[in-house]
Amino acid sequence: MPNRNLSESELEIARNLIDQIRCTLEEMADGDSELLFALRRKVYKELTYDEREKPAFRKKLKSIKRDEQDGICPLCGKTLPQSYCVLDRINAIDGYTAENTRLIHKDCDVAIQSGRGYK
Ligand SMILES: [Zn+2]
Repeated sequence: MPNRNLSESELEIARNLIDQIRCTLEEMADGDSELLFALRRKVYKELTYDEREKPAFRKKLKSIKRDEQDGICPLCGKTLPQSYCVLDRINAIDGYTAENTRLIHKDCDVAIQSGRGYK
């Protein structure tokens, strides 16, 4: 299923939100560029976790998927390397669950992402 996109009016809401966040970060940093950097980085990281889960969770899920798949990439049928594999969500909105993911090669991920219209 393709990911939901935002409408033009929803995009405007998102742009306004981002502007508000940037203003708030600037106010909180009060001219301290190192604090601004750290605050921005923390917000970025936490929002990324909302979308992608925390690294320890993803690492455990990768291990589960590797075992379930007998170390084989379901897209090309070749053995997966020990690192640099990608957890691919079948339906992105359903998140990182064992039922909704598969462990694949980075190159296989690039191929399906471009097929989905991501570049
Ligand atoms: Zn593969």
